[in-house]
Parts: sequence; C-alpha cells; structure tokens
Amino acid sequence: MAGKKVIITGVPGVGKTSVINETIEKLANENILYLNISFGSFMFDVAKASNLVQNRDEMRSLSKDQQKALQREASQQIAKIEGNVIIDTHASVKTPAGFLPGLPEWVLRDLMPDIVVLVEADDDQILRRRFSDESRLRDIEGARSIRDHQQFNRAVAASYAMLTGCTVLYVENADFLLTHSVEALAAVLR
Ligand code: AMP
Ligand code: MG
Repeated sequence: MAGKKVIITGVPGVGKTSVINETIEKLANENILYLNISFGSFMFDVAKASNLVQNRDEMRSLSKDQQKALQREASQQIAKIEGNVIIDTHASVKTPAGFLPGLPEWVLRDLMPDIVVLVEADDDQILRRRFSDESRLRDIEGARSIRDHQQFNRAVAASYAMLTGCTVLYVENADFLLTHSVEALAAVLR
C-alpha cells in the first residue's frame, strides 16, 4: 500500500513539534509507523553547507530567491522518501519581504500530500510560548500580527487543497490540552 503523506504546519511557537512527536509515539504503540521529516532541517543542511547561515532561524531573512532555491532542494529530496511520512513545515514563512508560501505550486507537485494540517492556537497563547522558548530565536511580534499570520495560513492552505485535491484539517493546540491535539491528529493518520 502506498504511504500516507501528511504535511503539518503551524506558526512558530504553536507547539507543532510537541504535537508531532507525541502523535508519532502514540501511533507507534499501535504499530502504525510514521517517519518524522523536518522540511526546515533539509533546507538548513544545504544552507549551512553553502555558508549562507549559521542557525536555522536565520534562513527566513535570506533573500526570497535564496529561500526558494533551498525550498526546492528540500522538496526534491523529501519527495524521494517512501512510506508514511509526516512533513513538519510551514504553510507560509514570515520574511522581511512579506509572507512566503511554504508550499508553492512546484513544491506541492513534488510532495503531493494527502492532507495539510494546520496546528493553531490563540494568538496570546502563542505569544507567551514564544517568550518562554529559549531554544529558538523566535520572532518578537504582537498578538495581532500572529493572528494575521494564522489567517494567511488558512487562506494559503485552501489554495494547496485546490491545487492537489488534498484535505485541510485545523488542529487546535490549546494550553494544557496537548492530548486533545494529539488525538485529533492521530485520528486522521490511522
Ligand atoms: P522550523 O524548524 O520548522 O521552524 O523550520 C526552520 C526554518 O526552515 C523556518 O524558519 C523557515 O525559514 C524554513 N522553512 C521550513 N519549512 C519551509 C518551507 N516549506 N518553505 C520555506 N521555508 C521553510
Ligand atoms: Mg518546530
């Protein structure tokens, strides 16, 4: 049977990585195996080898053309991976030049997902999570700009569905309710 391709997105600090890791663990206990692929890591490996950046959070400040070249490189490599895969990425990336689509048409054609998941939370909760995460260089922005970003992500996800016929699922990751998010995601991956 062909594997399932699941693209998981969410603004920085929404808790995407926690939702993904716990869901993969939960499903593994049921003998359902998913490979966890970080789109950003594929981009970063190339960017670092070319001396473009020193850390992954610098990539979104590169020129639009540089980001698109890294994105293309990553999607071509990821497209070759078979089986059930979760691709941890972004519906759009906030850059100094505006929102860059995470999955422009040529990337979608490489990946052809079955489903695009948007992990979402209230803007004020995301704001707080960013302040308490010291492992990353999170953008400092206000609640309203986080809301705008989440809105743009819904809009752009609709276009991904139109281009590929994939479904789009919103998963709410509210404070103290990670188990709910994990159950909602696991339900579509079984
Ligand atoms: P992450 O660890 O998921 O936050 O990804 C690290 C960085 O990789 C992001 O801040 C972006 O600069 C870049 N990135 C990840 N996915 C994409 C994508 N689909 N398109 C463009 N840039 C991406
Ligand atoms: Mg993450």
